[in-house]
Amino acid sequence: MSDGRKQRGMRTRAIHAGEQPDPVTGASAPNLVMSTSFVTENPEASFSALELTEDAPYAYTRWGNPTTNQLEAKLADIEGAEAAIVFASGMAATIALLLHRLRAGDHLIVSDIAYAGVSELVRDTLTKLSVDVTCADLSDLDEFRRALRPETKLVLVETPANPILRLTDIRAVADLAHKAGAELVVDSTFATPIATRPIEHGADYVLHSLTKYLCGHGDALGGAVLGRVDRMLTLRRDTAIHLGGVLSPFNAWLIMRGIATLPIRMAAHADSAMKVSRFLEAHPRVTRVIYPGLPSHPQHALAKRQMDNYSAMLTFQVADGPSAAKRMAERLEVIHYAVSLGHHRSLVFYLPTAELQKASFRLDDEHLERYRTYAGDGVFRLSVGLEDADDLCADLDQALADV
Ligand SMILES: *Cc1c(COP(=O)(O)O)cnc(C)c1O
Repeated sequence: MSDGRKQRGMRTRAIHAGEQPDPVTGASAPNLVMSTSFVTENPEASFSALELTEDAPYAYTRWGNPTTNQLEAKLADIEGAEAAIVFASGMAATIALLLHRLRAGDHLIVSDIAYAGVSELVRDTLTKLSVDVTCADLSDLDEFRRALRPETKLVLVETPANPILRLTDIRAVADLAHKAGAELVVDSTFATPIATRPIEHGADYVLHSLTKYLCGHGDALGGAVLGRVDRMLTLRRDTAIHLGGVLSPFNAWLIMRGIATLPIRMAAHADSAMKVSRFLEAHPRVTRVIYPGLPSHPQHALAKRQMDNYSAMLTFQVADGPSAAKRMAERLEVIHYAVSLGHHRSLVFYLPTAELQKASFRLDDEHLERYRTYAGDGVFRLSVGLEDADDLCADLDQALADV
């Protein structure tokens, strides 16, 4: 820091970064500014995004808004990035960054296993725009090296990857990408800045679905791109302003309130996830558990190196997945049988391998075999919430009885 003060701790920054008491009223909580328009005394004010500067006054909320800007400053601070731009959802953030950085003829390398929406987006939408897309197992550095080409512009990694919690070594991939003249994007939604700050490991951009742990309460969609300040300024102009998928100030306000408790929530999430994963590992009906915090995770050594907190996403398998899924949907009392993740409420959902493969991943035989070796055939994805771990274990136990 310029004044030589030690950087404040994560809990302090999660609460205070980006926020300040209102200069007029002294309000301690951030103001929620829902106004779309801002009055100006300058009759010549420009209405072109091309003239947007970092210190431009507020004019119109699609360009910038005091509430969303506070969230952006908070996110940049806790992620260790120069700047952040928030979007209406994680998908809006992802497509904004991809459209901003890629042109027809460019080459993108992306994790062959990733959030289903992102997998489908790169395979369908980007290829329609003549971007060349290679889906590769980025946990395998030799495979990554072979996928790199002179036209490779961007590499998109998701770690831990949805749904199988496979990890990618961010530092190793960043070094190889940079040597080849490409930039690295890390979707760090499952990790959160409490576990991993990808920019510290050499990434150029970080993506978040704010809908998950950052909001933390399952009541607001949002997304963010973080990176260098010059890149974020052009990203704001080309995508937030011109594509228009901006975040509502109301959601920004909710997400900001969620982030204030992110460090203590993640500590509690990880603690419960460890207890639940140990319980499941010892359960007679459960054949397999994948959680980065367990020594049995195939990449536990990398998890220890790259994650300061193991987050609270885990998968498990039972002998007959489809019938267990039916019972869980009917019988669970505390855990909700529902998609999404990172909420205070625990959520579980069954993901059959064949359907994911057909709709989203479309892996070749070799990669499908790797997926099955890593995760098996069909997994329950469990987002461990903030309830008492004992209650979660008891709920799973009664739902798994006589499966
Ligand atoms: C949920 C999610 C997304 C998409 O985010 P939305 O906010 O639902 O649009 C992208 N990546 C990962 C890893 C996610 O979990």
